[in-house]
Amino acid sequence: MISRKIDEKAICKAKRLVDDAEHIVAVCHMAPDGDAIGSSLAAAHVLGALGKDCRVVVPDAYLSNLAKLPGAKEIVDATRYPDFAARLFREADLVLCLDFNEPRRVGRLEKVLRECPAPKILIDHHLHPDIDAEVVISHPEMPATSYLMFRFFCRLELFNFINAQAAECMLAGMMTDTGNFSYNCSDPELYIVVAELLKKGADKERLYRALFNTYSENCLRLNAYAILNRMEVYPEDGAALIVLSRDELNRYHYAKGDTEGLVNRPLSIPGIHYSAFLREEADMVKVSMRSVGDFPVNILCKEYFGGGGHLNASGGEFYGTLDEAATLFRSLLKENKKKYLANVKD
Ligand code: 5GP
Ligand code: MN
Repeated sequence: MISRKIDEKAICKAKRLVDDAEHIVAVCHMAPDGDAIGSSLAAAHVLGALGKDCRVVVPDAYLSNLAKLPGAKEIVDATRYPDFAARLFREADLVLCLDFNEPRRVGRLEKVLRECPAPKILIDHHLHPDIDAEVVISHPEMPATSYLMFRFFCRLELFNFINAQAAECMLAGMMTDTGNFSYNCSDPELYIVVAELLKKGADKERLYRALFNTYSENCLRLNAYAILNRMEVYPEDGAALIVLSRDELNRYHYAKGDTEGLVNRPLSIPGIHYSAFLREEADMVKVSMRSVGDFPVNILCKEYFGGGGHLNASGGEFYGTLDEAATLFRSLLKENKKKYLANVKD
């Protein structure tokens, strides 16, 4: 089977907390993606099979392509049901903090989470965990929290409680955070876990279609428009930028998630090492960045766009006009090249 990665003391403590808990809340980061939702729903399925009452509470709406995940209909959206969400936290005797590293990542639930007296278990793969939790299981080297969840359940001797639904949710998380096993996926044990999840009944082909290959007509046209008309490529500087205004988004009836993955597209051009996407929102500009190799977009997002994230996938927010945000990004190109691309050959 797979090697042991999670600290034994953490497992013992977590086991005691799970054994003693009756009402459990699983919470994940705002704008939850497939890994956040996948790990949370997996917890609900496995702990539910164990006889616990485990509810998934999310700070805000998840992407529509996740609606088909088993159990998604039971998710409590704290933006739509704030009082109910707060009550679940108040009545919980254990909170699982999944796929986030800091309280502010749960957005509107931050206060509720901070004030919740129940013990907490953090299970996450982002850098620098900063959650006041009884148990911290943080493995930034892991490609997905859902992968860590599988290991967690196994170590808690809950392998037999992983049903087809839980398996499908964990596989969805692993597929999401590795781009369907195209990056962060060199760990051989990942595929042992995939094999176990398939044996449990996860339908990978159905998941692929739902997660990666379902688009509305408007969404397809918006992405085509963005690449054709709004993509700036700077081959000299190894960079690309895509900018979309509210007007442009409205023209294609933008719905949340429609531009998911757009920021990655310029990286397919040889010689482009990093890419930024700026999307105008009502009160700010949402920034998304991706890179290949050693180019640290997390530093860029932290220093200039009040955000952060991973080396190759980060984001932030810019409070100013869309033009100002784009101008700022362009003004950094030469310096970025000197700092981070000096040793790059192509
Ligand atoms: P995305 O570009 O998909 O919105 O975000 C990619 C990654 O960047 C996320 O997984 C998260 O780690 C990080 N991220 C995105 N937006 C923010 C933000 O506003 N603040 C911080 N600290 N990190 C962000
Ligand atoms: Mn994740």
